[in-house]
Formats: sequence, C-alpha cells, structure tokens
Amino acid sequence: MKVRSTHRFPGPAWDELEGVEVAPADTPGPDIDVLVVLNEPVDFELYPSLRLIANYSVGYDRIDVAAAGARGVAVTNTPGVLDAATADLAMALMLAARRGVVTGDRLVRAGGWAGLRDGREVSGATLGIVGAGRIGSAVARRAAGFDMRVLPVRRSDGDLEAVLREADIVTLHVPLNAETRGLLSRERLALLKDGATLVNTARGAVVDEDALVAELVAGRITAGLDVFAHEPRVPTELLDLPNVVLTPHIGSDTVETRAAMTRCVVDNVLAFARGEPLPNPVG
Ligand code: NAP
Repeated sequence: MKVRSTHRFPGPAWDELEGVEVAPADTPGPDIDVLVVLNEPVDFELYPSLRLIANYSVGYDRIDVAAAGARGVAVTNTPGVLDAATADLAMALMLAARRGVVTGDRLVRAGGWAGLRDGREVSGATLGIVGAGRIGSAVARRAAGFDMRVLPVRRSDGDLEAVLREADIVTLHVPLNAETRGLLSRERLALLKDGATLVNTARGAVVDEDALVAELVAGRITAGLDVFAHEPRVPTELLDLPNVVLTPHIGSDTVETRAAMTRCVVDNVLAFARGEPLPNPVG
C-alpha cells in the first residue's frame, strides 16, 4: 500500500504509518493508494489508483466527496477530537473581542493605560449558536459556566433570523457546504443588534465577508475571526480596526489536539489497510 501525505503530521501516532511519502497534493501519484490531506482539493486525474483520502480535519469542504464516491474513493475526517480546542478558541475570541483584551494589550505595550473603556459583558449574555453540533454543543457547555442564555440553531431546528435579532453574541459552527455558503448574508448580518459580537471559528465563506467588513468598519458590531473567505488573505480593512480580533485558523491548534487528530487519521488509514470498516467515513 502506497501512502502519500501533504504534510508530516505531529504526534507519536504518525510513526505507525511506514514509508509515507510527503509531497504536495498536486504532484502526480500514479501508484498512490492513500492520500492524507489537510482539506486540500484532490485532482483525481493525478491519482488513478487512489482508494482513500484521509483528511486531517473535521471540515472537508475543499474535497469533492461526491466525485470521490463516484470513483470508488473513500473519504475520512477527524470528528470529535478537536471539539474542546475549537470551542475553547471560540470562547477566547468572544472574551477577547468583548473585553478589549487585544486592544488593551497593545495599549499597555505602547506605554498607555486605560481610561473608561467600552467593554461588553460576556457573563449573562444571550449566545446564539449557529450549528449546535459537536463543537457548538461544546461551546454551549462552556457558556453554562458563564451563566449565558443559549439559543441553538441546527439544520433541523431553530429560527436563525430570530436568533440573530436576539443574541448579544453569535458563534458559528456549521460546516461549509452549498447550503451554508453565505448563510450570514448582508441582510442577516444587518439583523445583529448594535454592539453584538460575531465569532467565526467555522469557515470564512459561511459569512458574506464584504458585508461583515462593512459592518466592522462602521463600528456597529465587534467580531472574533479565526477563519476567512480566502485564507491566508485577510481583508486589509480589518487590520487596523480595534473592534475585531483576528487569529490565523488555529481552532484545533494545540499540541494535544493535533496529536489526537493524527491518531484519528492513522486509525483510519490502518483500518483501510486491514480491510476493516473505516472509523470516520464521510459522504
Ligand atoms: P457537526 O457536529 O456536523 O455540527 C454541525 C452543526 O451544524 C449541526 O448541528 C448541523 O445541524 C448544523 N447545520 C448544518 N447546516 C446548517 C444550516 N444550513 N443551518 C443551521 N445549522 C446547520 O460539525 P462539527 O464537528 O461541530 O464541526 C463544525 C465545523 O467547524 C466543521 O465543519 C469545520 O468547518 C469547522 N471547524 C473549524 C476549526 C478551526 O480550526 N477553526 C476546527 C474544527 C472545525 P443538524 O444537527 O440539524 O445536522
């Protein structure tokens, strides 16, 4: 079995995969059976013998799962093991954006000090969770410790527009797909209350990014953003704004979670090699 990976992934489990070739996804791989990716698109023409794409990420929005299925290529992901880390980052962004943690840090480093500031409460706030699945539910558990009132939205239930109108903070946890692309449209962003906070640790394209930038430039809302529509490009208008906190797609980026994701990928590849059922198939 020939395995290629687009990266060398961290953690001890990686060494259980023997003879893995590390190469970019767009390098021809005529004899590759298994490709490990970081949500990169796969050109199936380059991989005529491919049988498994093992994705090192729970989100697989850049992988054409239908095309893979049509060619008999299975796809797996890493659900569950990154819920805590991603939910923690959502909380961190919420706290940082509402309490001026980053602007305060910059002020102190520049030799300044705070006068009266315009922080907003997190404790007791009403929190809209758009996508109350694995990660969204982990956020809800954390929110309980902050005495927040949680308004969940799922595909199957919840009124998104009512939640946008009512919430002090909205945090996004939907997968990116044809249904959720642009879900937070210009019109829906306009429903957010003045002074509300939008947190996005899902995918940038779930939001109309131009409309979000306009709301932030106007100073009407605050935001904590880990993901962007055209990563690694971040809209330049955001770079000097005090009302937005920016992180470089680090939702699952802890040593512990990265190692657990590697364990999950390796378990899927080893199950495939043994002809056993795949632990985490998608599609
Ligand atoms: P999940 O368990 O599948 O949960 C997704 C939730 O979204 C479900 O509750 C689902 O509703 C809901 N949903 C789907 N489409 C919807 C729609 N059109 N309107 C409202 N709700 C909708 O997924 P997860 O494991 O929590 O992961 C969520 C996403 O987080 C991933 O797909 C990935 O893109 C992102 N992520 C980002 C990072 C990062 O580093 N920033 C890290 C990890 C994950 P139902 O329950 O009704 O199906």
